[in-house]
Amino acid sequence: MPRTLDPQLRRSLAERIRYYNELGIYDFYRTEPSVVEAENTSVPIFETPAEAREEMPRQKPVVAVPIVEEDLFAAPKPESKVTDPVQALLLIREDLGDCTRCRLHQQGRKQIVFGVGNPKADLMFIGEAPGADEDQQGEPFVGRAGQLLNNMIKAMGLRREDVYIANIIKCRPPGNRTPERDECDTCSPFLMRQIAVIRPKVIVALGAIAAKTLLAINAPMAELRGRWYDFRGTKLAVTYHPAFLLRDPRQKKETWKDLQIVMKELGLPIPSRSPE
Ligand code: URA
Repeated sequence: MPRTLDPQLRRSLAERIRYYNELGIYDFYRTEPSVVEAENTSVPIFETPAEAREEMPRQKPVVAVPIVEEDLFAAPKPESKVTDPVQALLLIREDLGDCTRCRLHQQGRKQIVFGVGNPKADLMFIGEAPGADEDQQGEPFVGRAGQLLNNMIKAMGLRREDVYIANIIKCRPPGNRTPERDECDTCSPFLMRQIAVIRPKVIVALGAIAAKTLLAINAPMAELRGRWYDFRGTKLAVTYHPAFLLRDPRQKKETWKDLQIVMKELGLPIPSRSPE
């Protein structure tokens, strides 16, 4: 790397570091990029039809996930010595308690929406935040977007109970507004602990908020999709949020491409016909 940075690159780096700092990430060290580009370019990894190619260029910069140093002085997590994931998740839930760590507890949430599914799932879906139905029922993705997610899971040859589903934040933001950065920062450590317990083989981030929070990168969906990320040792893919697909069903076929890549990674058979 040249010793003097191009001013444009220097500015973007400074901006990126400021963004990480805002997320509470201060420690960086140089490492090999941990993102794996689609291994086999001949594999139709999120291959785009000609008309959509502009939206998803083949050559994109590789983005490394920053490695955050653990706080050596932090108290050990209650679940750290527990080997049974069911028990470990219960301990995390208990630790979360009737959470008042951010403003959302005072802004009309009915209950905490922790997560649902197989504690040993190979596949984990992560959305943004509970909506009204989820807040009412205490379970993620049970409204219209949830129905669509169920269909996506079914199209993959799986059942909802085979996977684990959670959100970046566990309380409904008022009026279903986008979660604020500090709400994500406060809540997502609990999600990280859930991921560490479940140890899925693949994580699918649903939508830009989930992707940006997990990967700490600020990029539009068109840039986020179409590649594998290494999320703390777990493969992570990004696809459209089901709520977005309800608004723009034309993107379902793109999503199906994303899901097929995930299926391939998990060794699931790919049906010869695409789902309706
Ligand atoms: N949208 C989300 O991101 N999560 C849910 O649980 C429901 C809708």
